[in-house]
Order: sequence, then structure tokens, then C-alpha cells
Amino acid sequence: SLSRSGDEGRATGTGTGKTHSQTRGQNRRSSAMITCYIGLGGNIANALGTPRQHIANAIAAFYASPHFANVTASSLYQSKAFGVTDQPDFSNAVVKVDTDLAPLALLDFCQSLESAAKRTRLRHWGERSLDVDVLLYGDDTINNARLVVPHEGLFARNFVLIPMLELDPTLMVNGQKLADLPTSQQWQGLEKLTGV
Ligand code: ATP
Ligand code: CA
Ligand code: CA
Repeated sequence: SLSRSGDEGRATGTGTGKTHSQTRGQNRRSSAMITCYIGLGGNIANALGTPRQHIANAIAAFYASPHFANVTASSLYQSKAFGVTDQPDFSNAVVKVDTDLAPLALLDFCQSLESAAKRTRLRHWGERSLDVDVLLYGDDTINNARLVVPHEGLFARNFVLIPMLELDPTLMVNGQKLADLPTSQQWQGLEKLTGV
């Protein structure tokens, strides 16, 4: 059932022996749920809605899909554009989910949400209706042409770190407490708004 928590030991089971051992992302059984963090952001409205509505629609899609359980959303945040600054402020949120999707299937799902928000690519780090990034996939380190996890921007971006810590103040990545990173105390350009 989808409500049980992730446990790789369950996936490999007792008595399967070493020859049947499985690694996450590599022939992993779909019944094992992995806890993931997903970053949502956007700063342009289109015919489908405001950036806030794009984020709310994306969160609703996680709730609606049978591939996700224990969906929890952070508050909504507003941030100054990062990198390319001559563009509107961003709305941001992070969702924590348990999923039975393999990493690239999760990326496909995230990209389908961007398509559903009619994202168009204008310029690198530029304005977009919706950006959906895989921040963490359990404790996995992934270096794929399409997917790098933990997400490379995670440690340096307060609009990612602060909502993540709202969902789990004790969160650790590679043995590092995220709450100990200087960025997690820096609110420059970031504002917490009420509910998504
Ligand atoms: P940034 O990655 O710095 O936040 P961005 O979100 O604007 O920048 P995009 O144009 O949305 O970048 O994505 C470019 C590519 O990044 C995607 O096509 C995807 O294959 C790849 N990518 C690599 N790692 C990830 C990840 N963890 N989550 C989402 N996309 C990723
Ligand atoms: Ca991004
Ligand atoms: Ca992205």
C-alpha cells in the first residue's frame, strides 16, 4: 500500500540473498517508497494562472497521483530573481513526498508538470511559469546526463533550503545538517507568505 514508509530492507526482503540485492535506481522494486524533496518555482502568469496557481496545481498533481504518498507542502515564499535579476520576483515552495517512482521517472513527472503549466524556455535562469526540480531522492547521489541529485543549487539557495527546513528542521544531506549551512539563516531577498 502507498501509506507505508520507505524501507529498502523490505524491498530486498529476507531470504533473497546477496545475488538478489538491489540498489536504488538500479532495478529497484517499485513497491519501495523513497522520501524526496521537490522544489517548485515560477514568476510568470499565463492563460493557466498566476505563478502561485501553477505551484498550487503542481502540488495538487502530487496529491492526485498514485505514485506519491505523505505529500507535505511548505509555506509559499516570495524571492528576488536569482542570477538573472531583471525579471519579476519568484513564488517558491518545496514539497516532501514519498514515491515509488525511480529517479528518472520522477524527473519525467516533474517535467510533465512544467509542460502542464505551459512552460516556455526564454533564457537561462530566466522567467518561467513553473520550474520543478528534484532536490533530494532519499539519500541517493545521482549523476546522470538528465539528473543530478542532490540538486546542485540546493546548498546555496535560501529559497530552497529554508522551505526544506520548514518541512524537516533536522534534515541531513551527506552527513551535513542543512540547518548548519549559513544559507539557511540568510533571508536576503526572501519572504515567507501564508499558505500555498
Ligand atoms: P537550475 O538547475 O540551476 O535550478 P533551471 O531549473 O532553470 O536551473 P532548467 O532549464 O529547468 O534549469 O533545467 C535544465 C535541465 O536540468 C533539465 O532538462 C534536467 O534534465 C536537468 N536536471 C539535472 N538535474 C536536475 C534536477 N535535480 N532536477 C531537475 N532537473 C535537473
Ligand atoms: Ca531551478
Ligand atoms: Ca529546473
